[in-house]
Amino acid sequence: MAEGERKALIVGAGIGGLATALALQNAGWKVEVLERSGSLEPPGSGLSLWPNALAALERLGVLDEVLAAAVPVRGDVLDMEGEPIMLLEQLKVRRRYGLPIQMIHRNDLTSILAKRLKVNTVHLGLGVTAFHLGFPRSSVEISTGGRKNADLVVGADGLYSVVRGALLGVGAPRSSGTTALRGVCDATGLDNGMVPWGEMWGDGGVFGATPLPGGRVYWYGTLPTKALDPYRSRGWKTAAASTFAHWHRGIRSVIEQTPEDAIMAHELFDRKPEPVWSARSATLVGDAAHPMLPFLGQGGCQALEDAVALADALGQHEAVADGLIAYEAARTRRANKIVSQSHTMARLAQLDSEKLRKARNTTMRMLPKSFRLKQLDGVVGYEGR
Ligand SMILES: Cc1cc2nc3c(=O)[nH]c(=O)nc-3n(C[C@H](O)[C@H](O)[C@H](O)COP(=O)(O)OP(=O)(O)OC[C@H]3O[C@@H](n4cnc5c(N)ncnc54)[C@H](O)[C@@H]3O)c2cc1C
Repeated sequence: MAEGERKALIVGAGIGGLATALALQNAGWKVEVLERSGSLEPPGSGLSLWPNALAALERLGVLDEVLAAAVPVRGDVLDMEGEPIMLLEQLKVRRRYGLPIQMIHRNDLTSILAKRLKVNTVHLGLGVTAFHLGFPRSSVEISTGGRKNADLVVGADGLYSVVRGALLGVGAPRSSGTTALRGVCDATGLDNGMVPWGEMWGDGGVFGATPLPGGRVYWYGTLPTKALDPYRSRGWKTAAASTFAHWHRGIRSVIEQTPEDAIMAHELFDRKPEPVWSARSATLVGDAAHPMLPFLGQGGCQALEDAVALADALGQHEAVADGLIAYEAARTRRANKIVSQSHTMARLAQLDSEKLRKARNTTMRMLPKSFRLKQLDGVVGYEGR
């Protein structure tokens, strides 16, 4: 390590960890990423990148590569028959934010980020079993035995973060009572004119379908976690097919086209927002800091914002501890607000009562377009540009 070079240990190589590694590497830090999984390939699914994420990727120097691997999508909301509730015109989004919403396969995003890191930065199959806060350096215990220490430890280890547990205390995340099914299928053979592109809000759940590059389609649907019990042994494809059987018929073709092993189910959790994410020489990014429900499609986008803001803040302060205070000042309010908004959106999108759904749809249809776009500002407008 060169004299005066600062060293960061990042726990977790998801979107948050890899983006933070790249942001710190670009800022001259020596970086090591410890990832407990043996592979960098997250489970196959799509990820929406809103303009705030694209602006952060531009700051990381990978925007062109990301755009080449993604497709623009509209981000419309429809009812369960496929009739529009809220249309987001790409042209208007582009005029307002300079960049359109994109959909990318997660593996493509993580591989673009990882490829930019220096050789031997990411250590796969190396889990962190404990974290010890210290000053001026913090340390971690690793699964193969032994310890590593650094001027900065960043917990990018997701919902059940070990680093968060030691920094903020261990507590169970909040269950939303909802499970998300996600799948990727081949678009060949699908009647594209039939597929309702966008996110449909129906009785008690949502279903979304969007194109992915490479002739693929990404879809997701939510259902009450308890409703899954009868399907656990019969497979997620049966669960999806029967849950959405009475929705727009284009959904059926997408589910039928998806192999059983390309469908995954995850119960959805978030955590109560915390005003503090750091101490002395350690901090958190991404889901470790602010896990949120996915109803605004912002968890990964916010992780990208964290990465850029953390490197900026540390670059403006000689002492790491001062940089971490500046990082929190830049990020906690905004990210925590989006955690709460995502919670509210989960309730709004998944209304059970038909009467309330009708009232919601009518109200949303009447909202002027300019108002809809303004509502987006607080979420997808990027403050760090
Ligand atoms: C159904 C669904 C749809 C979503 N859609 C979108 C979307 O469209 N757009 C969007 O922006 N976001 C979306 N999100 C949110 C997004 O997936 C997350 O916010 C994002 O993946 C968080 O990234 P992360 O790197 O912080 O955490 P994670 O992706 O959880 O990565 C954490 C990493 O740390 C590793 N790890 C964990 N513990 C340890 C340990 N002890 N030692 C070493 N390594 C460890 C894990 O193996 C993992 O690789 C969605 C989420 C869900 C559930």
